[in-house]
Amino acid sequence: MRIACPQCEWEPTASARWTCRCGHAWNTFDTGGKCPKCQTVWRDTQCLACTRWSKHHDWYRDLPPVDALLEETEAAA
Ligand SMILES: [Zn+2]
Ligand SMILES: [Zn+2]
Repeated sequence: MRIACPQCEWEPTASARWTCRCGHAWNTFDTGGKCPKCQTVWRDTQCLACTRWSKHHDWYRDLPPVDALLEETEAAA
């Protein structure tokens, strides 16, 4: 699974840390954007390199776009 900023292609390292509004710092890609302390789910993730915000899903470069996933779910139902 390749993870990279959709806007600048920066690839987070295992030691990268994001800070939640509760003050906890962790690697958001270890938990799918969920703060392990207060359970807040961050749907958008800020790039530590270019400081721009992108949807957390968009950082996973090997996944199809969210729209494609939704269409597959509806077709299967
Ligand atoms: Zn970036
Ligand atoms: Zn938190």
